[in-house]
Amino acid sequence: LTVLGLETSCDETAASVVRLTPDGAATVLSSVVHSQIDDHAAYGGVVPEIAARSHVEMIDGVVRRAMAEAALDYDGLDGVAATAGPGLVGGVMVGLSFGKAVALARDLPLMAVNHLEGHAVSARLGARVKYPFLLLLVSGGHCQLLEVRGIGDMTRLGTTIDDAAGEAFDKVAKALGLGYPGGPALEKLAENGDGARFDLPRALLGRKDCDFSFSGLKTAASRLAHTCETDQDRADLADGVQTAIARQLSDRSDRAMKAYAEQHQHRLFVVAGGVAANRTVRSTLEATAAKNGFAFLAPPMAYCTDNAAMIALAGAERLQKGWVSDIDAVARPRWPLDEKSALADPAHK
Ligand code: ATP
Ligand code: MG
Ligand code: FE
Repeated sequence: LTVLGLETSCDETAASVVRLTPDGAATVLSSVVHSQIDDHAAYGGVVPEIAARSHVEMIDGVVRRAMAEAALDYDGLDGVAATAGPGLVGGVMVGLSFGKAVALARDLPLMAVNHLEGHAVSARLGARVKYPFLLLLVSGGHCQLLEVRGIGDMTRLGTTIDDAAGEAFDKVAKALGLGYPGGPALEKLAENGDGARFDLPRALLGRKDCDFSFSGLKTAASRLAHTCETDQDRADLADGVQTAIARQLSDRSDRAMKAYAEQHQHRLFVVAGGVAANRTVRSTLEATAAKNGFAFLAPPMAYCTDNAAMIALAGAERLQKGWVSDIDAVARPRWPLDEKSALADPAHK
């Protein structure tokens, strides 16, 4: 199956063509991502109205490039998948409407894909990852531990009770004057830092559930950021925050692995989402997985942050099951990943 995927839920306009074989192997034929960072930089964050307008302007060219790089014309497609939420609804509508137009014009099946489901399958773009697995989905807006049995079949084991980890990275980075998006810049700054001098909040460590909390850390670190005087101070704080986030992610994942191992034979731990691009986060989680006897996998760097290959793959896996969406599928600003009815029901709107 060859599927065109479209992603417009935040500030990247992305299109990709992915091929999925009957045995579940995925090949990325093209993946084009236009980042709007420059459009939003002056505002220190994503401005929804600007994002939506930019998607309208860019999507046609991005899709053309994705088709050209895949060396395909529309006759070579078996379906089209578009992010239908969650996200900034003005942007989601652009990609979803474009997907509907392609589906109607070419008489192709449309798959309305949950953006988080895209992140959930993204590790399969780089390796033969087989279901089931335990997933830490850690992105700009979400931080969840999930039991992933297959496409459309996921149970949430824990989630953040306040902010997402990516949000904590972004807010602290902003307080440190690093601009938007802050995660990668904070990681760079932390390279020369030693965070041990800061006593940062350690929320929920050792707690018996699998939930997260980052708002205390975010607030404390943002306050400390304003007291930093030297570049070394800033680097030290960046390292302290990065270490604290990695430590919490790994403490909560450790909890989930232990609970998971009581119920299942298989031992595969996957981390996905933008924060999975952070090397300290990756290596800390890898060590935690090893300690618990779990194999560890993360997507290739390019598929951690938002992209359309993950949406094309999720769409292809849905198409393989015959789960096609109605042409009047709606854009959803909120859409929990384990909402069974919406995920498994092929006629969801
Ligand atoms: P969601 O997927 O929850 O809707 P999103 O799509 O905006 O949110 P992603 O694109 O998956 O999120 O990830 C973006 C987030 O990842 C941002 O918060 C960004 O700061 C963070 N991030 C990206 N690279 C790194 C890095 N190297 N270190 C830390 N954080 C990073
Ligand atoms: Mg983004
Ligand atoms: Fe995302």
